[in-house]
Amino acid sequence: GAERTKNVLILMSDTGGGHRASAEAIRDAFQSEFGDEYRIFVKDVWKEYTGWPLNDMERSYKFMVRHVQLWKVAFHSTSPRWIHSVYLAAIAAYYAKEVEAGLMEYKPDIIISVHPLMQHIPLWVLKWQGLQKKVVFVTVITDLNTCHRTWFHPGVNRCYCPSEEVAKRALLDGLEESQVRVFGLPIRPSFCRAVLSKDDLRVELEMDPHLPAVLLMGGGEGMGPVKKTALALGESLLDEGSGKPIGQLIVICGRNKVLASTLEDIDWKIPVKVKGFQTQMEKWMGACDCIITKAGPGTIAEALIRGLPIILNDYIPGQEKGNVPYVVDNGAGVFTRSSKETARLVAEWFSTKTEELKKMSENALKLAQPNAVFDIVKDIHELACQRGPLANIPYMLTSSFTSII
Ligand code: UDP
Repeated sequence: GAERTKNVLILMSDTGGGHRASAEAIRDAFQSEFGDEYRIFVKDVWKEYTGWPLNDMERSYKFMVRHVQLWKVAFHSTSPRWIHSVYLAAIAAYYAKEVEAGLMEYKPDIIISVHPLMQHIPLWVLKWQGLQKKVVFVTVITDLNTCHRTWFHPGVNRCYCPSEEVAKRALLDGLEESQVRVFGLPIRPSFCRAVLSKDDLRVELEMDPHLPAVLLMGGGEGMGPVKKTALALGESLLDEGSGKPIGQLIVICGRNKVLASTLEDIDWKIPVKVKGFQTQMEKWMGACDCIITKAGPGTIAEALIRGLPIILNDYIPGQEKGNVPYVVDNGAGVFTRSSKETARLVAEWFSTKTEELKKMSENALKLAQPNAVFDIVKDIHELACQRGPLANIPYMLTSSFTSII
């Protein structure tokens, strides 16, 4: 019948926590809004179906961001469209069969890409299959500002931009107004809809009930100057006169186990909690009064939803650079690479400059877009409805295109 469950394939890659987090947010929102109407597959398709270098993207990315200069070169040297097109064409020719096999398996009615390198190849495969009019293809951009040009592909049905700044870039790069929507960065529904009381959270998380709290983190991988900053806070949040703490510190190290064990071994003079990868970030953010982080888009968007003033202490060159002015120019936080400066700022916010902290918190809430993920899935749902009752999409196994190119 016409009410067949539709298949949604979300293409992501584990290059940083952000893409996976966005993919899972979209999956959860589909489930909460439409239940059984959609069957969602979140796939790191390249890793599963293709060979080097695509299945190696995660490892190369982690290597490159640790060696920041290398990443800078990679980011900027692949920017002109002719370079990445030729590069991707070569890869596509080599791996098209495997990519097609991936699409064959999930038979998606809707394809959602949350990765800058996942528009070209699947769109080519759809074209070769004559399916570009049957399958809805959308891109959800997960960088707040200075995103890479490979995100923009004129062949998509929609390109969801998290900010006006990104939408401007999309239009400059040849997308039509009708293709572009600005709803915000998709954040997990459990995060957006959480109704939390700070007092209750502090009890649940075994924190001090009264001391102001600063949350320190560095994305999913625990990157940036986390250790130096923690040590500086350990000093600045101790009142010299009384010898008593004026604040407490929560450090979330993500998957960085070395960092966590190093910090656990320190003899702290203020209340400190050191944690590994956490699955309920909304609770930690809800229990704290400000956050220190590298300029990851996911963490920034989440902190804004919780109204946390943000100290940005690092960014990955290229795609994260623009996240800094996004926060600072909107009065929701500050940028400094100095751990001493960071520690001094937090100590002031917790003692003499509480008004400044409050003002920034209000600005953060003004920037927040907690409904973005729901707006995105509703719009995709409408696109799918416009296609009418979908027949089983006739994915065919053809090897013909491999001989065309
Ligand atoms: N995160 C998490 N648990 C942790 C550390 C991080 O769930 O212990 C989440 C965080 O809430 C955010 C994402 O991982 O949603 C990090 O994304 P971001 O864009 O900030 O940085 P990335 O790790 O992608 O560089």
